[in-house]
Amino acid sequence: MTGRLAAVRDRIAAACRDAGRDPSEVALLAVTKTVPATDVAALLDLGLGAFAENRAQEAAAKVGAVHELRPDAAPDWFFVGGLQRNKVRTVLPWVTRIDSVDSPRLARAIDKEVAKARDAGERSGPLPVLVQYSVDGDPDRGGVAPADLAALTDLVGALPGLELAGLMAVAPLGWEAGAAFEQVAEAARRTRERHPGATVLSAGMSGDLESAIGHGSTVVRVGTALVGDRRIASE
Ligand SMILES: *Cc1c(COP(=O)(O)O)cnc(C)c1O
Repeated sequence: MTGRLAAVRDRIAAACRDAGRDPSEVALLAVTKTVPATDVAALLDLGLGAFAENRAQEAAAKVGAVHELRPDAAPDWFFVGGLQRNKVRTVLPWVTRIDSVDSPRLARAIDKEVAKARDAGERSGPLPVLVQYSVDGDPDRGGVAPADLAALTDLVGALPGLELAGLMAVAPLGWEAGAAFEQVAEAARRTRERHPGATVLSAGMSGDLESAIGHGSTVVRVGTALVGDRRIASE
């Protein structure tokens, strides 16, 4: 994994150079879905401290297992998958930020659980979230359609339990990455006009991180290029 991590860091550095950006502006989020806890521990040992999961149940178990393996580490965990409202409770105890808020119903459900956790003395302060933006508006693939973005960011900005940190997006299948990320960048600009604190732009994965960085991404989510064949065969 050492070699893979070095290669990913080199790609990020090269993309930043090409874009005239400082590499410190781009955070690396290791997507560890389907990766066993022992491999997450190995990534921790290599100095990574930000991991992303996309299934509530699998993630909750893994967060616990990683903590048992490395009790002194305090990594940040991000949720990047489709989230059912009845799973918000499963995610809240360990999640640093939910990056896949894509509907008013989900936003309200998170707000409600945050309020409950506050009342129970289990947390203080709002939960940072990203709104997931759908470039093509395909309802089957997650993300809020372009026409509904402003209303959703306004709602998230108004809910006391949530803090709008920015946007996440995936380049749709069949789209040229540059064309997709140009639209994502434009959506991020519009969002920042309404919500100046929404400075995070999570865009770019193993196959298209250079293009995303060229369009202003501040977080790249990398799975395959980091963990590749170590991934459990189920996905
Ligand atoms: C799996 C996944 C990634 C990582 O994709 P790779 O191509 O393996 O780097 C990034 N973002 C989301 C939302 C994912 O589900």
